[in-house]
Amino acid sequence: MTAVADAAATIAGIRREVCALHAELTRYQLVVWTAGNVSARVPGQDLLVIKPSGVSYDELTPDNMVVCDLDGRVVDGEHAPSSDTEAQAYVYRHMPDVGGVVHTHSTYATAWAARGEPIPCVLTMIADEFGGEIPVGPFAVIGDDSIGRGIVETLQGSRSPAVLMQNHGVFAIGPSARAAVKAAVMCEDVARTVHLSRQLGEPLAIDPAQVDRLFERYQNVYGQRATEE
Ligand SMILES: [Zn+2]
Repeated sequence: MTAVADAAATIAGIRREVCALHAELTRYQLVVWTAGNVSARVPGQDLLVIKPSGVSYDELTPDNMVVCDLDGRVVDGEHAPSSDTEAQAYVYRHMPDVGGVVHTHSTYATAWAARGEPIPCVLTMIADEFGGEIPVGPFAVIGDDSIGRGIVETLQGSRSPAVLMQNHGVFAIGPSARAAVKAAVMCEDVARTVHLSRQLGEPLAIDPAQVDRLFERYQNVYGQRATEE
């Protein structure tokens, strides 16, 4: 294959992957109507692939995904890209190891975001997946790069792959789009469990040294054995 055909094949593959991953958002009930989105970086091309704006989940196809540059400008696609594209492009520009970004307003996690309250590390699963509490990012609105900046500044100071943007919802990152979707799914799951736990008392914090051990083991030993991300 020529380099040009190779690049086109890569983008076609990512269009299929990003389209298919949106089915996980509905499967795990993380989104309603047209809210939420998944994007993926196109390796080596300074491009990203993201959901089109305002298209229902049932109507998403690989072909109507939108290819943008890392400033959020459309490079290829018939639809306007998701209104979160600028924020996600900012993340890709400033976090070179990020291969995928997911955004949802999933119910329980967003209830924590509405209070501006981090989800405390009170479950081994939170230590495993997030390495500590799931942090809260600043209040920010669409229109400039303040959402992107808030995501990056919060996540760079944390081991968590997910941030609760205050009064808004979840942004999750990962080395791949699939890993970012997993982080968004897990974030909602622990948000719900810790919420339920708190109804009958105060959940018990895990000792920070144990959090470190759990995180290390899960991210390294377990990660190498598992074929699944
Ligand atoms: Zn949103």
